[in-house]
Amino acid sequence: MTAKRFSHKPAPPEPPCPNEVAHTPCPTGYLQWWSWVERMNRTHDQAVCEGCGRWAIWYPRPTGAMATCWGCGEAKVDPAKFGDDDELLCQRCQDEREAQCIASQKARAAARLARTWADAT
Ligand SMILES: [Zn+2]
Ligand SMILES: [Zn+2]
Repeated sequence: MTAKRFSHKPAPPEPPCPNEVAHTPCPTGYLQWWSWVERMNRTHDQAVCEGCGRWAIWYPRPTGAMATCWGCGEAKVDPAKFGDDDELLCQRCQDEREAQCIASQKARAAARLARTWADAT
């Protein structure tokens, strides 16, 4: 009989990986995991685990190497150009983000105007 590790936690939904020792340890909480990933992403790259095919292995990114854009996951961005609080986004994704921002600002302004108009009439 094998001792069950992490018996205090609910069983993981995925089947165990034969190569799990190669996985990079990460937080299990969703929010903690995301902030951990954001931090890791600045300095590390991900690799696919041969055991389970998941992006479970993180390795330090070589100095000067490009990072993957968080938005599209395809374009390469230079992590050195981003501050600690900036999201690593390529120009296209930044433009898209901005356009979305402006669109939602316009929508909010229009809604506000409509309300004002309704109040006034
Ligand atoms: Zn694995
Ligand atoms: Zn992008």
